[in-house]
Amino acid sequence: MDRKLFLRHLGLLSAGAFAAPSLLKTFRSEGPFFEIRNNLGYFSMRGGTIGWFVTEDTIVSIDSQYAETAVQFLEGIGNYGTGPTRVLFNTHHHGDHVSGNGTFADDNYQIIAHENVPELQRRQAEARDTLDEMTAAGITFSQEYVMSPGMETIRAKYYGNAHTGGDSVIWFENANVAHMGDLVFNRLYPFIDRDGGASITGWIDLLETVADEGDSETVYIFGHGNPDFGVTGNRDDLLYMRDFLTHLLDHTSAEIAAGKSREEILETRSFDLFPDHLSPSDFLSLPRNLDVAYRELTEENG
Ligand SMILES: [Zn+2]
Repeated sequence: MDRKLFLRHLGLLSAGAFAAPSLLKTFRSEGPFFEIRNNLGYFSMRGGTIGWFVTEDTIVSIDSQYAETAVQFLEGIGNYGTGPTRVLFNTHHHGDHVSGNGTFADDNYQIIAHENVPELQRRQAEARDTLDEMTAAGITFSQEYVMSPGMETIRAKYYGNAHTGGDSVIWFENANVAHMGDLVFNRLYPFIDRDGGASITGWIDLLETVADEGDSETVYIFGHGNPDFGVTGNRDDLLYMRDFLTHLLDHTSAEIAAGKSREEILETRSFDLFPDHLSPSDFLSLPRNLDVAYRELTEENG
């Protein structure tokens, strides 16, 4: 048994033996760890926002970013909880959300994801020739997965094709917080992974459903955000994203009906109705979004 593991066992024994009061330190919002409430928060460094929740015997993490940032996350979260039960949810298969999986697995985390995620992850790794570095979920679910550490109930739910073909929303029912993965790009042009199973129509429905399932107090964590708007928000932000996707489809549909070619449609660089949307790169840009909308409206099996 290595030293770290030994100390962890020691921690477990003493917690049980002395029924210690809260072992959890108080969080301060100094970054990269930010607490929202109830020992639950997010970690933002590089890639998709990591969510976390700690009790005295459990650590739950959502998404793993990259190997290097996963190391920093795991070192930091150790200040707040070293529970023997360790769980990592993957919200979907994209590299900036799962490339730290191996680092978490080495630290005894069990990985949980929707049943489509490992295969999408394998296809992605194969295309990038990184299969030997891939670590996928060992536990999968088709509709939902529920666990209840301490007073919290955590529910991972699948709502159908949206940003990819295997997205889940991770609900913390007691804290009234939901991690959206990449189902919200907050005031950023989103990546819409059509080849990985995305559906703009499905995504619109999902945002409406998830906004309905929350209430005015629900805090949502987003995979990515415009720096001016951040990576957390409320259900109005979900509905704003829904409105953007709806406008994207309506606009593209009208352009097709007006006889414009794909090339002409892709010339639009921004929408007047959504002036806050940021394009950090060509990859996350309105022309890319218009191209996916065009394909969804014109190709079969959309
Ligand atoms: Zn993604």
